Amino acid sequence: MNSIAGEGWLAVGDAAMAFDPLSSTGIAKAMRSGITAAAVISRALQGDSDAVAEYASEVVSEFDSYLQNRYSYHRIDEVAR
Ligand SMILES: Cc1cc2nc3c(=O)[nH]c(=O)nc-3n(C[C@H](O)[C@H](O)[C@H](O)COP(=O)(O)OP(=O)(O)OC[C@H]3O[C@@H](n4cnc5c(N)ncnc54)[C@H](O)[C@@H]3O)c2cc1C
Repeated sequence: MNSIAGEGWLAVGDAAMAFDPLSSTGIAKAMRSGITAAAVISRALQGDSDAVAEYASEVVSEFDSYLQNRYSYHRIDEVAR
């Protein structure tokens, strides 16, 4: 599928996406990611063939939001000058 999930496996926490440590959001994100992954695995084991692809797509979307946020923070200094 991609580097986030494949046949019989999921990347979770920092293995799926790592944020800048300065954002101080990595631990909460890793715990949320573990809880979400458990639900996705349960759905997949019950035969839901979309569960893993949806998970991968949500991770990509969350990482895109993080990158946009990070860009905004880094621009604060640029705009202030
Ligand atoms: C310098 C620094 C400062 C940070 N400060 C903050 C902060 O203030 N607040 C915050 O929220 N987040 C912070 N983070 C981020 C946060 O630590 C991580 O986002 C979080 O720990 C990720 O959790 P995880 O369980 O996904 O991965 P990890 O905590 O990296 O856990 C992965 C575990 O898997 C083990 N492992 C790896 N390979 C294998 C293998 N092949 N077999 C078995 N086990 C394996 C590793 O030894 C490790 O114990 C910081 C990160 C860094 C680097």
